[in-house]
Amino acid sequence: MNGLPRFYTSLRDFRSVFDTGLPILTYHKIGPRPPKVRMKGLYVSESLFRRQLTEWAQAGWTTTQLSPSPLTHEASPPQRQLVITFDDGFENILQYGLAPLAQNGFHAIQFLISDRLGAENDWEQQLAQEAPVRLMDVSQIREWLAAGHDIGAHTRTHPQLTKIPISKAREEIQGSRRQLEDLFGRPIHHFCYPYGDWSPAVRDLVAEAGFQTACTVEPGVNTAGIDPFGLKRFTARYRSRNWGSLAATMRDWFQCPH
Ligand SMILES: [Zn+2]
Repeated sequence: MNGLPRFYTSLRDFRSVFDTGLPILTYHKIGPRPPKVRMKGLYVSESLFRRQLTEWAQAGWTTTQLSPSPLTHEASPPQRQLVITFDDGFENILQYGLAPLAQNGFHAIQFLISDRLGAENDWEQQLAQEAPVRLMDVSQIREWLAAGHDIGAHTRTHPQLTKIPISKAREEIQGSRRQLEDLFGRPIHHFCYPYGDWSPAVRDLVAEAGFQTACTVEPGVNTAGIDPFGLKRFTARYRSRNWGSLAATMRDWFQCPH
C-alpha cells in the first residue's frame, strides 16, 4: 500500500492497485453535514459521491455483490469489478445515495445494526458527543432492497466486539443475523465488524454464526485465497492532508471520557 493516499478519493491514485484484486469501498454517511458534527470525515457530499461513481462507470467498472463471492469462484481477481459498502444504515444513504447508484447501474450493501433500525446513532453520540443522525427504519430498508441492493449485519448495538465477554459478542453477532432474517425474510450472508475491531476469536464467532464473509477496515484489495472473514476495504473520504487515519480517529473516540 506504499505510496497510496490513506483514503480513497479518486480512481487515478488507485487504478493500479485496484487492478490487482477485488476492491471494496467503505462509506458511512452521504449528504450535507448537520450542524455541530464532530466526525466530519465520515461524511461524503452527494456531489463527491456522484463524481466517484461516474468516474468508475466511465472507466468501465461495474459493481458486484459480496455473494456469491467472486473471490471464491474465480482463480484470478475479477476484472474491473468493485463492491460498495455502507456501514451503519444511515437514512441519508437512501436520501442522497440511491439515485446516483441507480443512474450508474451500481449496487451496494448496507450493514445494519439490528436493534437500532429507525433509531439514532447512539453509539456515536455516547463516544464522541456526535450530532444525532437517523438510521433507516424497516420500510426504508425494504425500499433499499426493492431497488436491488443488499443488506448485511453489523451487530445488534454496535459494541467493540473484542472488549465484551465472548458470550455477549456471540449474541451480538448471531442475534443480528437472526433479527434481520426474521424481519426481511431473506438470508443474511455478510457481516461487518463495528469500528473494524476484530480478533481471531471474534472472527470465529462470525464464521460459527453462519455468515459467508466479514469486512474489516484494513486497507487493501482482496485477492484469491484471502480469509473471507477478514476482507479489506478502502474508506472513501475527501482528499485531505489533515485528517489522520481511521484508526487514529477510532482511538480518539475511545479516549472520550464516556
Ligand atoms: Zn459501524
